[in-house]
Amino acid sequence: MGSQGSVPYSRQSIDQDDIDAVLKVLKGSWLTTGPAVEAFEQDVAEFSGRQFGVSFSNGTAALHGMMHAVGIEPGDEVIVPAITFVATANAVLYQGGTPIFADVKADDLLIDPQDVERKITANTKAIVAVDYAGKPCDYSALRAIADRHGLLLLADACHSLGAEVAGQPSAALADMAVFSFHPVKPITTAEGGMVVGDDDEWAKLLKRFRGHGIDADFRQRAEKRDWRYQMVALGYNYRLSDLQAALGSSQLKKLPSWLEAKAEIAQRYRCDLARFQDFLCPLSMDDSIRHAYHLFVVQWKAGNKLQDRDWVFEQMRKQGIGVNVHYEPVYRHPFYQESVPTARAPECPVADRSIDGILSLPIFAGMTQHEYGRVLASIDHCVRASRLLRAA
Ligand SMILES: *Cc1c(COP(=O)(O)O)cnc(C)c1O
Repeated sequence: MGSQGSVPYSRQSIDQDDIDAVLKVLKGSWLTTGPAVEAFEQDVAEFSGRQFGVSFSNGTAALHGMMHAVGIEPGDEVIVPAITFVATANAVLYQGGTPIFADVKADDLLIDPQDVERKITANTKAIVAVDYAGKPCDYSALRAIADRHGLLLLADACHSLGAEVAGQPSAALADMAVFSFHPVKPITTAEGGMVVGDDDEWAKLLKRFRGHGIDADFRQRAEKRDWRYQMVALGYNYRLSDLQAALGSSQLKKLPSWLEAKAEIAQRYRCDLARFQDFLCPLSMDDSIRHAYHLFVVQWKAGNKLQDRDWVFEQMRKQGIGVNVHYEPVYRHPFYQESVPTARAPECPVADRSIDGILSLPIFAGMTQHEYGRVLASIDHCVRASRLLRAA
């Protein structure tokens, strides 16, 4: 992309190896439910320190599968963070469950374990930790709470493939974890998702759920030379194709180097933004963990002299910088306000206060020096223009 184009907030990296891997599958005999799917599932499970991986057509379907596998049903409450992509809470609704919104911590906008504990009732069944921006949640605190109340601890790890806590993949710290392989996510299969975990029973339920509720897939039946199959539960067609799986396995090999590249960009942002600290500061980026840097979010400091977020957003977009806002609290969306009673009085003051003062800056492995420079120049422009507007 030339200097006149725009800098997106995220962009996939696709190289010749990826293209060759997809072409190889395309020329073979299995386009779906074939060996590339199983290989990708094993690759991701191993990478995230788990026994199984069950792929899905996207991360949302994987979340739905996870809610099904743990038996969420009408009457069950599932605690989700106020600030996340809507799909986290939607998956609870798909199963007829009730999402309960927990507030986030002011320093990093991750789910606040203290508020989680406050919102537990006799109907609570699970907590969903979302590794917002690629930073692992406080799993030790959440695990202690889950154990104390007999709850499941699930992870929406759509931002955090590759993140670690004390050298351990963070996706191994929840009972199950979900990844998304949408193009803006850490690796891509165009569309795709996966649930990882250790329990064989859950793996069986997930596979059945993604394949119409039928107890064996087409390849297993072909091997057994049997036409019979039984549909034993209501399932969906949520399968990932072999073309996509081959792309995923090829992408995964490059993830470690991409994580390093993004950590470097984040470090540069922190240094370069230090001169604007009166106005902006990066959300807390803990050095004791390995952050996946899916997003780089800055926060307006209290009492700052910068124009408001929407003004800066508009200026930067005009200059071709793909800044974004992640995310409007789920309960504020019209559907939630109209149809989900727990969204009407969620009691999440930190989320409500924080949302108007955050901005996601572009960060992705293939970001060029030139693109980085354009983002910084645009921020510099906004800070200067804010000063002039205040002086006028
Ligand atoms: C992207 C994302 C999802 C949904 O994944 P899709 O693959 O787009 O369906 C769910 N939760 C979070 C936090 C996400 O960022």
